[in-house]
Amino acid sequence: MFRTLASLSLLVVLFVGCDDSYGTPSANQQAQTADPNSTIAVTATVGMVGDLVRTIGGDRVDVTQICGSGVDPHLYKATRDDVQAMMSADLIVYSGLMLEGKMTDTLIKMARHKPVIAVTEAIDETMLLEPDDFAGHYDPHVWMDVAAWSQCVDVIADELSAFDPLFEPAYRERAHALREKLADLDEYGKSVIATIPEGGRILVTSHDAFGYFGRAYGLKVLGIQGISTDSEAGLQRINTLVDLLVEQNVKSVFVESSVPRKSVDSLVEGAKSRGHHVSVGEKELFSDAMGESGTYEGTYIGMLDHNLTVVARGLGGEAPADGFQGKLSE
Ligand code: ZN
Repeated sequence: MFRTLASLSLLVVLFVGCDDSYGTPSANQQAQTADPNSTIAVTATVGMVGDLVRTIGGDRVDVTQICGSGVDPHLYKATRDDVQAMMSADLIVYSGLMLEGKMTDTLIKMARHKPVIAVTEAIDETMLLEPDDFAGHYDPHVWMDVAAWSQCVDVIADELSAFDPLFEPAYRERAHALREKLADLDEYGKSVIATIPEGGRILVTSHDAFGYFGRAYGLKVLGIQGISTDSEAGLQRINTLVDLLVEQNVKSVFVESSVPRKSVDSLVEGAKSRGHHVSVGEKELFSDAMGESGTYEGTYIGMLDHNLTVVARGLGGEAPADGFQGKLSE
C-alpha cells in the first residue's frame, strides 16, 4: 500500500528530473512564464496547500482545489474532472509524503508536462516524524505543526515568482506577512495548550493525524486508526485505548471532520462499560481537510486556530472561545 522511503525519493527524482528527460519546460525557464494579463491557473490537491497558494498568489492566481471540506485525501482518487483541471493548470501543487497516496500516478504523469510541486519537500527532514508503526515512511500530516508548515511558504513564493517574475515583489511580501502571522499562531498554540492541567495533556482522536501537533504543542497523542485511514481500527487497539482512558482519567476524546466517528463512539462505549465517562469534544477537529470554504475555519490559519483552541478548552485549559485573533465561530 505504501511506498518505501527509497521509492519515495525516486518519485522526487522523477518530479525534479522529468523536465530534462521529456524536454518540457520548467517553471524556471523563460519559455513558460505567465501572461501578465491573465491569471495563473493552479491546481492544488488539499485545502491546506490551496490556501498557501491563494494567500501568497492573491488575485494573480486562480486555484482549483481537488479535495474539499470533509474529504479524506488518503483515500481520494482523482476523477476525470480533477485530471482535466490538472491538464489545464499552469502549476500543480500538492502536499506530498504520500498523503495523496491514490493520486500519485496521476501526479507523476502530470509532471511530464508542467511543474508539479510537493510543498513538504521544503521542510527540513529533521522536523519530519517517522512513527514506529509506520517505519520507512514519514508522517505526512506536517501542517499540524505551524512552525514546520511555515517552511512551505517560500516554496510557493519561489515557484510563483519563477513562473510570473513581474509580480515577484508582491509574492515575497505576502509570503513574509504570512510567515509572521504563522509565527504568532504558533506562539498562541504553545501558550494555550500549556494551560491544560499537566496530567490532562492527552489527545485521543480518530486517526493518527496529530503526531506533529502533539510534538509542537506538548500533548501526548493517540489515534484509534493508524497514520492513514485505509485500515480499520482493530478491537485490540480499541481495548488498549479504553484501558488508557480509564487509567489516565481522560475526560474527552475528539472527532475529526474527515473521518467517520464510528471508532470514537466505540471508545466511548468501551469506557462506559468500565464505568468511566468520556465525552466527545463538542466540536470536530480538522485533521486532513479544512472547514467549509468561505469561512475562517476554511483557511489554514482558521483550521489550526480552531484545533488549538478547541483542544485547549476541551481538555480543561484556557483559551478565548473566538481564538487567537477573534475570528473563530463560537
Ligand atoms: Zn490523515
